[in-house]
Amino acid sequence: MGDLFSVDHALTPSERRRLRGGTQAKGYAAMPGTGPKGETCGSCEHLVRKRLAKVYRKCGLMERHWTGGKGTDVLTTAPACRNWKAVEGQPAKPAPKRATRAPKPLPPPTDEERRIAGEAARALRAAIADPNTRGAESTAHIDLARPRRGEWLTMWANLPGFVRVNGYGGHYSHACLPGWTYRRAEILAEMIPDLEALAERGVRPTEATNQGAVSR
Ligand code: SF4
Repeated sequence: MGDLFSVDHALTPSERRRLRGGTQAKGYAAMPGTGPKGETCGSCEHLVRKRLAKVYRKCGLMERHWTGGKGTDVLTTAPACRNWKAVEGQPAKPAPKRATRAPKPLPPPTDEERRIAGEAARALRAAIADPNTRGAESTAHIDLARPRRGEWLTMWANLPGFVRVNGYGGHYSHACLPGWTYRRAEILAEMIPDLEALAERGVRPTEATNQGAVSR
C-alpha cells in the first residue's frame, strides 16, 4: 500500500502528525478546516461516493491511495480542506452571517473565575510573544447535531480553556467567555482585553463590536 500522505496535495508535517493514529476516517487531501468557511467535504467537487455493499465516501484527490478500509474514507461533515472545489454549476455558499445579539446574561463572576481569567490572559499574551509557551497541541474531531456537522477542535496544554474550531480559517473561543467566539485577528484585539476586563473589573463582554467578539 502506498503512503496515504505522499501525494501532490500532501499535508504539512504537523498536519500529518495530527491525523495519524486512530481508526477514524482520515483520507483527506489536506487538513480539514483549512478551506473555505462554511463548506465541507460533502459540498466538494472532489467527494466520491463509492457504492459497494455500503456507500463509502472518499476524496477523489486521494484515489491512488484508496483502500477498502475506513482509513481512506472522509466524513461528509468534515470542514473543507484547502483543496476544496465548488461543485460545477454550484457557487460556494456565502460566509455565514455574524450574529450581533449578545449571549444571555450570566451571573456576576466569582473571585475564582476572575483569577482564572487573569491567568488565561497572561498565558495568551505569553503565547503570542513566544508560541513555544503554548505547550503540546492536540486536535479532536467531534460530530454535532442540530445542525448536523463535524468540528475539529485544537487545544494547547498551557492554554486551558482556549480552543480553535475548524483550523486557521475557523474561530476561537475561551471557556472563561462562554457564548463568544473570535476570529484569529481578534484574539489580541478583543479576546485578551475581554479576559482582562473580567479579571480586573469583573466585567463580562456584553455586545459584539465590528472588530470584536462575535456571539453565537
Ligand atoms: S474538501 Fe474536497 S479536496 Fe478536501 S478532503 Fe474533502 S473532498 Fe477532498
